[in-house]
Amino acid sequence: MALKKISFRDSVERMFTHAASLMELSPGLEQKIRVCNSTYTVRFGVRLRGQIHTFTGYRSVHSEHMEPVKGGIRYSLDVNQDEVEALAALMTYKCALVEVPFGGSKGGLRIDPRAWNEDELERITRRFTYELSRRNLISPSQNVPAPDMGTGEREMAWMADAYKRLHPDDINAKACVTGKPRTAGGIDGRVEATGRGVQFALREFFRHDDVMKRAGLSGTLAGKRVVVQGLGNVGYHAAQFLSAEDRALITCVIERDGVIRNPLGINIDALRGHIRATGGVKGFVGGDFSEDGLRALEDECDILVPAAIESVIDEDNAARINCKLIIEAANGPVTADADAILREKGIVIIPDMYANAGGVTVSYFEWVKNLSQISLGRLERRYEEARARMLVEELERLSADTGLNWTLSRGFKEAFLTGADELELVRSGLDDTMRESFKKMKEVWMNNPKVDDMRTAAYVVAIRRISNVYNSLGL
Ligand code: NAD
Repeated sequence: MALKKISFRDSVERMFTHAASLMELSPGLEQKIRVCNSTYTVRFGVRLRGQIHTFTGYRSVHSEHMEPVKGGIRYSLDVNQDEVEALAALMTYKCALVEVPFGGSKGGLRIDPRAWNEDELERITRRFTYELSRRNLISPSQNVPAPDMGTGEREMAWMADAYKRLHPDDINAKACVTGKPRTAGGIDGRVEATGRGVQFALREFFRHDDVMKRAGLSGTLAGKRVVVQGLGNVGYHAAQFLSAEDRALITCVIERDGVIRNPLGINIDALRGHIRATGGVKGFVGGDFSEDGLRALEDECDILVPAAIESVIDEDNAARINCKLIIEAANGPVTADADAILREKGIVIIPDMYANAGGVTVSYFEWVKNLSQISLGRLERRYEEARARMLVEELERLSADTGLNWTLSRGFKEAFLTGADELELVRSGLDDTMRESFKKMKEVWMNNPKVDDMRTAAYVVAIRRISNVYNSLGL
């Protein structure tokens, strides 16, 4: 008889329990941190195409040790309570690890977004928002959703507008969701943020010889062979930045309908265009197509980037995974059983909790921007430019007066004289977050003999921070 596979939530709990067992937490605190505080299930009807359709949605709040709680809203037919609770728990640990002052939450609607047109999706989303708002499960001060699989800027704009109509006197209404379009109070760089964070995480990894050595890697990202699963928001941006800016070779892209391989590197923008036009990777001329996408996870490569759904690497295929490093761009792509097998094989895993934290980090910046009602850099940008100009002019004057006749290169001068705009500030804040969090994880990983992988290290850092909050609250 086949053994029952471990569920996503059990995987998260097992990883948490392992890390907590290495720590000395006060009695009962481990259980308090582990449990999901509440999960709300809603069923609501919307009249569409001449009949009432009933939809099921969830919003789970894992931990309110900090408020608001934060976490994406997923639209998928696979959404279920177990999944939403696992994702909410991960949000708690993720926020603690990257030091954004939120508790963890997650939501989902059981729906195939491709089965409905834009008007229909808008009506469904507005109704879902109403149901969440009635229970304070969307609110700038208590619970702030964001995009996740199957949702994006468009859905966030509908949710923000629906919330504003219900709370016209709330001056902070815009901050009720993040991931909005710029015109609806969003922030530059949010759409790319999770993929950008994956890139920054890999760049930081490649700055540390000792951790690279553990994965059997050396050198830089240039020329490294990368396999990506899922060319959606996260996967596309990660693949695009890694290939265009770090000269990594994306040798394989796995999508729902199959896989495209090209050992010389796939043109990611062209493939994205093809997917948009045809709905899949089949027929793309820039590589070889095969229908067996799952098998391509086992292709030989340096870095494997699962960026689609959870539990794609489990005890069935883990032994055949043939890479040196896995960066979990998706949430929960590796089950707890697979994790043990991969570690045994010497494969290093950069855990989801850290790897895809770019999204929540930039969401935090957006939330702060909404509350302060001013875009980042608006006050200081021109002031910075004026001071830079003073310095350049003084250097040029000194150079002329002393007869040295130095000239600053045009490129340098232009870059130096331009104050940082919102996008640059967001990228700077994200880069800083990814670097600092990596160092904290690494410190625990390298210095604690009981911690033998980066995931456990990430949990230890997160649990320690959450327990400090609970201890100071006096629970
Ligand atoms: P998305 O819907 O934009 O993209 C998902 C992509 O994966 C799509 O292109 C889809 O076709 C593909 N896909 C789905 N099932 C697949 C399968 N079985 N095999 C191959 N490809 C498949 O979603 P996203 O926002 O990019 O999210 C992807 C993952 O990243 C999820 O696990 C999500 O929780 C996580 N994540 C997203 C964000 C964010 O800001 N969007 C933040 C943190 C974590």
